[in-house]
Amino acid sequence: MADQLCDSCGEYLPEGSAKYSIHIQAVADFDGIIYTEDSTSLEEDLTGSVFASVEEMGEEVFQEVAFILCDNCKRKFLQDPFNRGTSFFKVSKNIKYLFH
Ligand SMILES: [Zn+2]
Repeated sequence: MADQLCDSCGEYLPEGSAKYSIHIQAVADFDGIIYTEDSTSLEEDLTGSVFASVEEMGEEVFQEVAFILCDNCKRKFLQDPFNRGTSFFKVSKNIKYLFH
């Protein structure tokens, strides 16, 4: 694999160095309830006035991004992923989507 840069701090990461791939998936947490004013069909509601296209609707339902981080940035990210200034990160008990 070629040399890379940390996506957070820009540190040069030569082959063989410690680096981490951070994958983030944003998945719509659909609760089964859709509010509409004058529903004619679910498809029309989902692709009509709210979204310009099916592609835009898809991005609202699922998005995935990936970053390469150096060891220092990985530790900082996992401690405080939302940059709240807290010294530790508590994992929500409501997490439904685990990947492994
Ligand atoms: Zn970094």
